[in-house]
Amino acid sequence: MVLTLVLFAPAHAQAPFSGTPAIEQALGKLNVLGSVLMIAAHPDDENTAILAYYARGRHMRTGYLSLTRGEGGQNLIGPEQGNLLGLIRTHELLEARQIDGAEQYFTRAIDFGFSKTADETMAKWGHDRILSDIVWVIRRFRPDIVILRFSGTPRDGHGQHQVSAILGKEAFSAAADASRFPEQLKFVQPWKATRLLFNTFNFTQDQEKESAAMKGRIEVDTGEYNPVLGVSYSQIAGMSRSMHRSQGMGAGQRPGPSRNYLVTIAGDAPAKDAKDAFDGIDTTWNRVPGGAATGGLLAEAARAFDPHHPDRTLPLLLQAYPLLAAIAASDDPWARAKLVELHEAIALCAGLWLDANVDQYAAVPGSTVEVKYTALNRSPFPMTLESVALEGVGGVSLADAAGGAHFEIVRPARHRYIDRVEGEQTRALTVVPPVALNLPQNVVLFPNNTARKVEIEVLAEMAKASGEVQLALDPGWSAQPQARPFQQSQAGEQMPLSFDVTPAQGADPPAYLRAATHIGDREVAAGMLVISHPPLPPLTVFPPAVVKLVRVEVRTTAHKIGYVMGAGDEMPEAIRQLGCTVTLLGASDLEQRDLSEFDAIVTGVRAYNVRADLRANLPRLLEYVHNGGTLIDQYNVADSNLVPMGPYKFSLSHARVDVEEAPVAFPNPRNPLLRMPNEITPKDFAGWIQERGLYFASDWDTHYETVLESHDPGEKQQAGGMLYARYGKGVYIFTGYSWFRELPAGVPGAYRIFANILSGGRD
Ligand SMILES: [Zn+2]
Repeated sequence: MVLTLVLFAPAHAQAPFSGTPAIEQALGKLNVLGSVLMIAAHPDDENTAILAYYARGRHMRTGYLSLTRGEGGQNLIGPEQGNLLGLIRTHELLEARQIDGAEQYFTRAIDFGFSKTADETMAKWGHDRILSDIVWVIRRFRPDIVILRFSGTPRDGHGQHQVSAILGKEAFSAAADASRFPEQLKFVQPWKATRLLFNTFNFTQDQEKESAAMKGRIEVDTGEYNPVLGVSYSQIAGMSRSMHRSQGMGAGQRPGPSRNYLVTIAGDAPAKDAKDAFDGIDTTWNRVPGGAATGGLLAEAARAFDPHHPDRTLPLLLQAYPLLAAIAASDDPWARAKLVELHEAIALCAGLWLDANVDQYAAVPGSTVEVKYTALNRSPFPMTLESVALEGVGGVSLADAAGGAHFEIVRPARHRYIDRVEGEQTRALTVVPPVALNLPQNVVLFPNNTARKVEIEVLAEMAKASGEVQLALDPGWSAQPQARPFQQSQAGEQMPLSFDVTPAQGADPPAYLRAATHIGDREVAAGMLVISHPPLPPLTVFPPAVVKLVRVEVRTTAHKIGYVMGAGDEMPEAIRQLGCTVTLLGASDLEQRDLSEFDAIVTGVRAYNVRADLRANLPRLLEYVHNGGTLIDQYNVADSNLVPMGPYKFSLSHARVDVEEAPVAFPNPRNPLLRMPNEITPKDFAGWIQERGLYFASDWDTHYETVLESHDPGEKQQAGGMLYARYGKGVYIFTGYSWFRELPAGVPGAYRIFANILSGGRD
């Protein structure tokens, strides 16, 4: 047998199984030609147990189409929001799929945050645009059955959930219709899946009752035990689901029966009393013209497999190979997919160790890296390494092809290294620019017309980097100087460059500052950020070197701020933009420090949920307020840990206002938070992003005065989003409005209101 080793750069996570379980999975899969695609809205909507059951148990080609990447969600593991959170959740899904064995797909739909109605979602996404993406995935994936996770009705809750099912139903028929999205037909054929199913809700007793009444309901017991893997599919689901770390989805691995149900909603229904969602669908090699002989050999290979001598399976696989290659040459999609799987099954049975180790994990374009190839045949079966090639670079021939079957095996090129604590690690090879222009802030606030310093960190990724950083500003804005040179001798060196930026007179915010430099004939206008949340691989992103400049008239009478970080947010930096100093308060500060030095203390989002030290020291904080301090609590989630916040009673609820343009009214216009030191007007609620706020209070003691009222279209007024109370000589404020999103995004009005909050409404 002759091997060609082709290597390529992108990272490729490793399957969690090896040895006998991996070979069993591979041989099983070669014998099944069936496929199932599940559709829902977000990372973590998927029924992982169903995916694991079909992929690992039934050996079906299994896919999950998440319309969005979940960028509008919350983040329990770090400060990343928006696009960066979407990137983290994308990789959480990819890790989950490695465990449950399914493939992962997305559309262009953006998760814009919680939405109560299908209409709002449809308006934001664009009906045809997202429908065409779903049709595209169906035409490419060619599923036999499609499973919707939601019903397409308001019972789904989130508007994006509803739309995933509404569009999923439309896409099921549109994918089969050549007159729909004909521009796709240059690349794919129309595809008619056999049936569309709904995976019924069984979370509550009422739902269970409703599901039981549905006609033709098919049961899937994901609690079935797989003796080769040593777990049930529900247990695999627990492992897979626990990858959604940013969402706090750590799940148990429950053994024993676990019933899930599927109901046909379109297409050919299964026969009456059928027990299988694939009823009547041929998932054997008979569905491929001329495939019967190949199927016979592959079935024999699976039967004859000996865990102690996997190499003895090779002759059968090699017999099947030319037959399968001939069918694949006629462009049959199943044969093409199975040919790739056959290559991998052969590598597994031969215990092949194929590796391309790069001597470093980052490289600048035009530089040289050393790649060490290792090919190890750990079976008695004779094999020759014929050639090695690095994709996009070229390769070398090592031996003359001399008869035998020829195979191409593809592996990622990566940096393999030893960590003294973690042991052997691998990291994807990343191509990086020669220098990165990092901006410590995304937003710079100008509370008046004075110039402010903007700092740019130049990070060298190569030795002897030199050049000049040039700034471009919007009309009317100026920088002193406009350009600064830099020179660095070593890779990894950082050099801060400082510029004085003066705002334009009378300009409406926002404006932008763009930084760029030239290295050789290459323009660099991006920074570099490495997001590290193990077990995800390090994620390297290159954010554009752009700062948002916000000129807004804002005063604050609070200067020294204490901040109790909660689940993670970017508020401390945003508060510094107001000219305040911010001290992060740890457990010992809360226990012992003299808090009277702070003009205001702010607790971060979900701080009471995640910090026992904060809950324990609440009496000290209230004493601080009583003596004249200002305490500001942001949103928390009502859970069993939570202690009553504030000096007087109020209860938290799930009430929220999701439409970021929802009008905001002032029920008590004389409230100092609306007047001092900044006069707040409805204009300050313009340009907000994602939402107004969440987890508002539902009822409160009469000592509290409400400050703001808002509501989503068609709902009743929510007044519990901001509560104000005098307590002793001080002020207590609870606010569920989304300052943690609006301030880091540079929303001018949000800064004016939050300045009043910090100032406790005092002038
Ligand atoms: Zn969801």
